[in-house]
Amino acid sequence: MSGYADPSVKVMPVTAEDEVVQFCQELIRIDTSNPGDHSGPGERVAAEYVAEKLAEVGVESQLFEPHPKRTSLVARIAGEDPSREALLLHGHLDVVPARAEDWTRDPFGGEIADGCVWGRGAVDMKDMDAMILAVVRDRLRSGRRPPRDVVLAFLADEEAGGSWGARWLVEERPELFEGVGEAVGEVGGFSLTVPGDRRMYLIETAEKGIAWMNLTARGTAGHGSMVHPDNAVTALAAAVGRLGGHEFPPQLTKTVRMFLERVCLAYGIEFDPADPEAALAKIGPLARMIGATLRHTLNPTRLDAGYKTNVIPQDASAQVDGRFLPGYEDEFMATVDELLGPDIKREFVYHDQALETDYEGALVAAMEAALTSEDPGALPVPYCLSGGTDAKHFARLGIRCFGFAPLRLPADLDFSGMFHGVDERVPVDGLRFGARVLDAFLDRA
Ligand SMILES: [Zn+2]
Repeated sequence: MSGYADPSVKVMPVTAEDEVVQFCQELIRIDTSNPGDHSGPGERVAAEYVAEKLAEVGVESQLFEPHPKRTSLVARIAGEDPSREALLLHGHLDVVPARAEDWTRDPFGGEIADGCVWGRGAVDMKDMDAMILAVVRDRLRSGRRPPRDVVLAFLADEEAGGSWGARWLVEERPELFEGVGEAVGEVGGFSLTVPGDRRMYLIETAEKGIAWMNLTARGTAGHGSMVHPDNAVTALAAAVGRLGGHEFPPQLTKTVRMFLERVCLAYGIEFDPADPEAALAKIGPLARMIGATLRHTLNPTRLDAGYKTNVIPQDASAQVDGRFLPGYEDEFMATVDELLGPDIKREFVYHDQALETDYEGALVAAMEAALTSEDPGALPVPYCLSGGTDAKHFARLGIRCFGFAPLRLPADLDFSGMFHGVDERVPVDGLRFGARVLDAFLDRA
């Protein structure tokens, strides 16, 4: 018989905290490895999964597939005050590939062990995807609309520059983001434990720019046994040496300066702008990433020349990964060209802007208040990401972008090492904390 509830079955209310862990596990089990071409499984299954979870609470999704299986999802939730600018919450569905033999656990198993959910994407960024889903469902089930319209975007291809995800949507379907003034995505909101058992929470307000360059030297081909002054390999190798060996001086952007000042405050040391490295030395493994935001960087990564030992080739080429600070791109490129000299040809393989927004305003206050509501001693702080995210694409639409995927982490976890790392995992407690903070943030956003 149907139609009557069985009184012996107690239906417990489902909360965001219950669902966030399950969703994170299930999303990890959907392999969305993105090798940078179309040889991976794509994001379609994950996008359909998200669409189904949203449909269950009455949210209609639009799926976009500019290339087979490279699927992104966009949905809009009406807020209480439709006259206000909308808020974009975005997360990418793809992950970088993982070699199972290197891992302690199955990278696509989504297992829970040692208090963590394990798997590729656990922190980058199926954790945040799960948080957004769980929180939105919980709010809609309990009739708690967000104060303003919220646009949700679950995106393909972030790990390869977003050509089939955020970049495509921004270029081809900008109307989807009409009225959006601010956005929240990765990489920020995670904690760093400081003295007094307090935690700094790093909110991303800036990103370095990307200048991947191809360098070519052209000389005269000839026999390897002869006197040969015009050797392309020699010219290229010298130029690569100059770039790779160049030491850029530290330059403090407003974001990095504020970050270091607050680190010093938390550690009770005096901030010395002439010696920013002293503050960095305090923050452990995270210094690897933050250290790269003190200055431009240039790292040669590929070399290609020649086909036989006794043949001098006509051309030699190399690739260099350059990253520049927000506000200093022209100066960076001028230095690159000076180091290269007139005879080396330079082209961009990939180029994208740097970002920086002020750490102020109502949305920042909402993030701070949400963190403090769940961790009363929280010390929120702006920081600059050394890499790039989909925020670079959304910023082109005039949207102010922040990285805020809240996670309270244990003091000893090397969090920055988890990104694209082996044994990527996220603490279960951290996920639950994140869902609570994201919910509290949406109350105030
Ligand atoms: Zn990511």
